[in-house]
Amino acid sequence: MDKTDFLIIGAGVIGLAIAAELADRFHNQSVILLEQHHKFGQETSSRNSEVIHAGIYYPKASLKAILCVEGKHLLYDFCSKWKVPHEPSGKLIVANTPEEVSTLEELLIRGKENGVKDLQFLDSSQISRYEPNIKAEAAIYSPSTGIIDSHKLMERLEWLAVSKKTIIACGHKVTSIEFMGNQYAVSYQGPQGTYDSINSSWVINSSGLSSDYIASLPGIDIDTAGYRLFPCKGEYFSIPVSRAKLVSRLIYPPPYKDLRGLGIHFTKKLDGSAKLGPNAFYVDAPDYTVTAEHASQFYNSLKEYLPFLNAKDLCPDMAGVRPKLQPPNSPIRDFIVSHEKERGLNGFINLIGIESPGLTSCLSLAKMVADLIEENGS
Ligand SMILES: Cc1cc2nc3c(=O)[nH]c(=O)nc-3n(C[C@H](O)[C@H](O)[C@H](O)COP(=O)(O)OP(=O)(O)OC[C@H]3O[C@@H](n4cnc5c(N)ncnc54)[C@H](O)[C@@H]3O)c2cc1C
Repeated sequence: MDKTDFLIIGAGVIGLAIAAELADRFHNQSVILLEQHHKFGQETSSRNSEVIHAGIYYPKASLKAILCVEGKHLLYDFCSKWKVPHEPSGKLIVANTPEEVSTLEELLIRGKENGVKDLQFLDSSQISRYEPNIKAEAAIYSPSTGIIDSHKLMERLEWLAVSKKTIIACGHKVTSIEFMGNQYAVSYQGPQGTYDSINSSWVINSSGLSSDYIASLPGIDIDTAGYRLFPCKGEYFSIPVSRAKLVSRLIYPPPYKDLRGLGIHFTKKLDGSAKLGPNAFYVDAPDYTVTAEHASQFYNSLKEYLPFLNAKDLCPDMAGVRPKLQPPNSPIRDFIVSHEKERGLNGFINLIGIESPGLTSCLSLAKMVADLIEENGS
């Protein structure tokens, strides 16, 4: 095939969700998804906390807030319908100092403004009824926060897309994009190392950590546009299952002031084990090593509210990298979801800076992309 209607770049959870949505909504048109690795979901979508976020933290009326709240509902329904393993385990955001308590009060207001209606403020005696083994003076309880098997979610999205005739071409790395007036010529290197190209009326850039580079290919100046990404790494440590069993819900501290991360938290996994993390620090380029010496930083920030933890419990686990739009010490930026027709690129849609809560928002982001296409009369 040398021509398609929709060409999606990147088979993480966002590209897969978009493929499934477009294949369903525009069923008489063709969808191709190009992925550079041998399989889907080899980057950020398989290196995260696997939390279905409620939508508490993000600035009011931001895409992060709106798409997270909408996406959470869509995702719970999707998981039930398609039997994706998940659990609405609930979460406590805990505080131990007066300053942390006032942060929780602000978060409670923001969460409610964002449409998270089920939040409750707990005092220490209520907390001990929920979680007898943690130590906290106050907490926000979020019952609609949950955990999900992100791999099974991606498998199901892939299956839905393919069953509606989407072609998912793994081992295909996009190398150039040229706008030819009414369609795009997208060149790629295939699995055998040879180069080829395909024409498409629509190009959707959901290439995660490479989405600034892919946006530059048809000629967007990513610095002028504010599209340059700054990779921000997050490491995780695991703890023994015997310790993990002492807590039933997700336990979070108050978030970092600049929201570069939500703070090193205790995340239950569906198999009953738990991981601690992620921390947040900027790196020059993505890498997935975990520095064992960072265990003491993790232990020190967690021991206050998880008093049962021993320093020697922590074991290096895995790392992920956030595609951040803000450089260090800068205010939080929102997701970019942009149909670039004002830049003279009709039919080119960029998704850039899709960090957390991107997993939670995958279905609402996909819906938004399909709406943008529909508005344009496809
Ligand atoms: C540490 C961490 C914790 C997180 N925790 C959560 C959480 O608990 N809940 C939540 O909702 N979100 C969380 N997130 C965010 C979430 O993981 C991401 O928003 C989501 O996975 C982004 O998916 P994606 O498809 O955009 O990116 P990716 O999964 O990175 O996929 C992009 C794909 O594009 C491909 N690609 C790149 N360049 C090319 C090219 N030239 N040609 C072809 N293919 C290409 C890549 O190979 C990759 O497969 C977390 C993120 C991190 C880093």
